[in-house]
Amino acid sequence: MLIQLLTIHPLIVSGPLSESILGRAQEQGVLDIRVVNIRDFALTKHQQTDDYPYGGGAGLVMKPEPVYGAVDWCKKRAAEGSKAPRVILMDPQGKVFNQKLAEELAREEHLILVCGRYEGFDERIRSLATDEVSVGDYVLMGGELPALVMIEAVSRLIPGVLGDIESAVTESHTSGLLEGPQYTRPIEFEGQRVPAILTSGDHGAVERWRRKEALKRTLERRPDLLANLEMSHDDRVMLAELKGEEPPPDPRKKRRRS
Ligand code: SAH
Repeated sequence: MLIQLLTIHPLIVSGPLSESILGRAQEQGVLDIRVVNIRDFALTKHQQTDDYPYGGGAGLVMKPEPVYGAVDWCKKRAAEGSKAPRVILMDPQGKVFNQKLAEELAREEHLILVCGRYEGFDERIRSLATDEVSVGDYVLMGGELPALVMIEAVSRLIPGVLGDIESAVTESHTSGLLEGPQYTRPIEFEGQRVPAILTSGDHGAVERWRRKEALKRTLERRPDLLANLEMSHDDRVMLAELKGEEPPPDPRKKRRRS
């Protein structure tokens, strides 16, 4: 996947993009992440990327010409025959980013992420975008951190980026549930012991325990997620146990005719 991140502050993103898993994925050629400086596409002598708002008011607005120039340039860098890129404006007015959108974007071949600064974009920049995305209902100083958030969430879903792709499947939000508790050594720490089942060697029992703990954690912290969850009969039984309710009847057992 080719990801181009457009910013007027390349240094804000260069460290996070070159370290750890993202750095390694690029070295291995699984990901190609390019930082493009919008200022290089400014048309004025002083490489101006912002200007005063028409009609007056506070702050500065990002000028359209440099952003258009940068996005056009990025589109031309796409691999021959590849799908049209998604051009994503980072914007607190956009749709709120979540795991479902990360999964959708992970199936793309080419993403162009445009970071705003100051008071945001000249309205005409919006017509460049296929998507406008917010990372949450709060306002940051620029789109760089939101773009990094999206790149991390999307990249880890691309095969070959994480060492163990299985871990992305059981993760909070991917399965529709929050992930349950996890432990590593030592077996006892400050009087808190690792649950015995995890060292029992009984894989079936461990799986069942993990599923029940994930249901429990979701019930405690995010009960809203359970409403959209596709549950098996076993899930319903475990959930009833957790709530102290009667277990539901087993649909696999035929009802006797009276
Ligand atoms: N005046 C704008 C906010 C500008 S914030 C408004 O009221 O809508 C400056 C830039 O930071 C934005 O253009 C955007 O690129 C980025 N930004 C700020 N908060 C963000 C958020 N929650 N999600 C994504 N991008 C954000």
